[in-house]
Amino acid sequence: MMEEKALLAPGGPATQEAAAVQILITYINRRHGLPVPESDEDLPEFYRLDPGLCLARDAKLRDVYHVAASAGSSCSAGRKPGEPCVHSRRFFPAKEVKAFEKGVARNVLQS
Ligand SMILES: [Zn+2]
Repeated sequence: MMEEKALLAPGGPATQEAAAVQILITYINRRHGLPVPESDEDLPEFYRLDPGLCLARDAKLRDVYHVAASAGSSCSAGRKPGEPCVHSRRFFPAKEVKAFEKGVARNVLQS
């Protein structure tokens, strides 16, 4: 019996087993009439759950998926404060956020 873990546990995003991710993707894709993953090899490298949440398969540990959000990710690098990990940088580039913050700062200075 597989242990079920919430995607966003109280301590932050929680890394998931590939088997659990397969069940989740199958459930969502079926509801949307999309093809479902047939096997472990059929699973995608990443899967966006919503604009703010993305599942990313570990490049080495193929049986786990990290849960990435703009604030961080469930991988070991993503749980450390400071530099965003490879997943946060890839799926949530800071460029747009910075541009938005600059725009806000400019508006504040002008008013
Ligand atoms: Zn990460």
